Amino acid sequence: MRTVVTGTPGTGKTSATERLDREVLHLNDVIEREGLYTERDAERDSLVVDLDALGEFVGGREGIVESHLAHHLPAERVIVLRCAPDDLERRLRERGEDEAKAGENRESEELDLILSEAVTEHGLESVYEIDTTDRSPDEVASEIERVLAGEREPSA
Ligand code: ADP
Ligand code: MN
Repeated sequence: MRTVVTGTPGTGKTSATERLDREVLHLNDVIEREGLYTERDAERDSLVVDLDALGEFVGGREGIVESHLAHHLPAERVIVLRCAPDDLERRLRERGEDEAKAGENRESEELDLILSEAVTEHGLESVYEIDTTDRSPDEVASEIERVLAGEREPSA
């Protein structure tokens, strides 16, 4: 059984999943370490990820996979972290992202882009949204645990 944790950059995926008492595959680390990208976009300070190579690397590995790309992998459950756009932009600026990148991600969150991709690829019955706006990373981790324990209904 695989659960993926996705969401716009800044929604707190890494912070929350690091607090789980479980093994978590953080795709950002893997992409960098295994060189699973086709190019490095210097201007945007980001990697163009090779999704096929990533899918191959992750393979049939079960458990929890965390990334803003994780919903492109096969999964039984898809957890989508959300954040109020103003707060998201502030988090990203505080993390040191430039204005353009913070604004781009704010807009992506406003437009529900990752949520809609997740629903299109997996169906509403597999998707669980968690609002992180007024929750600490520990509280978000507890909510993820509730999903893993089958204590929460999907967003459907
Ligand atoms: P992601 O992995 O989704 O990009 P991070 O976990 O790196 O997000 O968090 C982005 C920034 O927001 C970090 O500076 C982090 O300290 C902060 N942050 C993460 N989760 C929360 C939260 N629940 N409430 C407030 N700030 C948070
Ligand atoms: Mn992260």
